[in-house]
Amino acid sequence: MDNSLTFCQMPLDRASTLRKNGLWLQDKRTSEDSHFYFFWRGKFLYFEQEICIFSQKSTVGLNDNIFNKKLFTDVLDNSPVTFLGTNNNHNEEAHFVCNLSPMNEIEIKQWLVNLAIEDIKFIDFRRSISLLNHQQAAVLSYAKALIHWQQSALFCGCCGGKTQAMDGGHRRICVNESCQKQHFPRTDPAVIMLVEYQPQSGPAVCLLAEHHRTPEQVFSTLAGFVDPGESLEEAVTREVFEEAGIEVSNVCYIDSQPWPFPNSLMIGFITQAQSMNLCLEEAELRSAGWFTAQQLAEFNEWGDEVDGPKLPRKESISRLLIDLWCERQLSATADLISE
Ligand SMILES: [Zn+2]
Repeated sequence: MDNSLTFCQMPLDRASTLRKNGLWLQDKRTSEDSHFYFFWRGKFLYFEQEICIFSQKSTVGLNDNIFNKKLFTDVLDNSPVTFLGTNNNHNEEAHFVCNLSPMNEIEIKQWLVNLAIEDIKFIDFRRSISLLNHQQAAVLSYAKALIHWQQSALFCGCCGGKTQAMDGGHRRICVNESCQKQHFPRTDPAVIMLVEYQPQSGPAVCLLAEHHRTPEQVFSTLAGFVDPGESLEEAVTREVFEEAGIEVSNVCYIDSQPWPFPNSLMIGFITQAQSMNLCLEEAELRSAGWFTAQQLAEFNEWGDEVDGPKLPRKESISRLLIDLWCERQLSATADLISE
């Protein structure tokens, strides 16, 4: 399936072999062609509603301001910088993200004041997705997930010793000589599934639920993390039974999406229910119900300030599964009418 989902259109070559070469990496790190994003505690730096990318050559709003440039290079020299990849279209420009999170609130505010650039600010990643195109969203979600992993791997899980970043921030190694365990970025696989049911007569229905973790009246597909020692199909079957008391068959893969909140990979399926008798896990779900494609067409959008059921966020794979299922139902109905 051609994946047009948000976070799925990575424009960079991750250069996973080249980034192991310290000399090459150092050369890119100091090259005036290299691009740097700035991250602080879940937020990226923006200038006039556009993602701010610093390079020695040109940076939005900073072209001729040597003083400002030094403020950027100073933080680059004193903060963790992670290599993201190269842009094949432009002379192998390297892209990096600089993590300013070790700076406290007063320090970061002072740095912004010192920059003296109007309308430069940090914006929460999730709230800024609408300001990004798909490629930018993919790069920043990758950067955010990597930084999240690095911050959770500062100490070795085996001996408790400190770890040190390697390969441009894609590997960490325990500095305890008697341990030296290597740590690699983690991604948590999660299954997300649309459960459909075809009654003896009448249109097919799908199961959507209000989750406690989302605002009231937002109906989305079921989802859950994959357990150790479990296949994806087993995870789908188990999660649907645990959350809704429904047995399913024909687990069919549809699409996947990295989900950097904080570091999941959502793997999407459509599966068929054996019955419609729900038994909800109340700790997870506020409510659940079966809906036809026609009913879903009447739902409001996420964020609409109106009373009534709403669909999940447009950028989510849950929404892709719902839209795809509705499309299939409506085209099946059209085929029936034309026969
Ligand atoms: Zn260790």
